[in-house]
Amino acid sequence: MQRLFFALLPDGVVRKQLRQLQKDLKQAGGRPVPEENLHLTLLFLGNVEADKMDAVRDIVAGIEGEPFDLVLDTLGGFRQNNVRVLWVGPSEPPPELEALHHSLRQQARKNGLHVGKGTYRPHVTLIRKAGLRENLPEKPNQNIPWAASRLALLASELLPSGSRYRILAETNLTEYAS
Ligand code: ATP
Ligand code: MG
Repeated sequence: MQRLFFALLPDGVVRKQLRQLQKDLKQAGGRPVPEENLHLTLLFLGNVEADKMDAVRDIVAGIEGEPFDLVLDTLGGFRQNNVRVLWVGPSEPPPELEALHHSLRQQARKNGLHVGKGTYRPHVTLIRKAGLRENLPEKPNQNIPWAASRLALLASELLPSGSRYRILAETNLTEYAS
């Protein structure tokens, strides 16, 4: 069994901007997500049996589509297991992102994988265990434009020191030749 999820991975430039944003939010305290873990979840699968792994990899291999732009322009927080998490996300998720989520969800379901219900709220988690009293800005100092092209299947290992992700499969969205 492995704990799996699909995600978009930021390129170097976006990563750097996310790092800066984490620094800008120092007032919130907590634990910044390590740079190598920064991602935007497309679909969370949870624990997947070994005999489904081929199917899950095939889903990634079969993804087609062009890169698309999103803008991370909104800050938010939510509670996860009673721990406050701070994130940045797009106030207007592009249709391509929603389509990607739905396509992955459909294919996962077709392969008998468990996919939870609930609305898809795209975000990049920045800080865990953030403070509760600070007044946080609603927007980042600077919007982060992201030309999303790198999609991966990740395995998450929950360790006492925090989660560790491993890339199991990866694909790049590429421009169609014209
Ligand atoms: P930790 O839970 O220890 O803080 P983590 O959240 O980084 O670590 P996972 O819980 O394995 O690691 O989650 C991997 C990704 O999937 C994260 O982006 C997380 O927000 C997302 N995720 C986890 N559980 C769910 C869920 N039930 N529904 C939707 N997304 C989820
Ligand atoms: Mg988690």
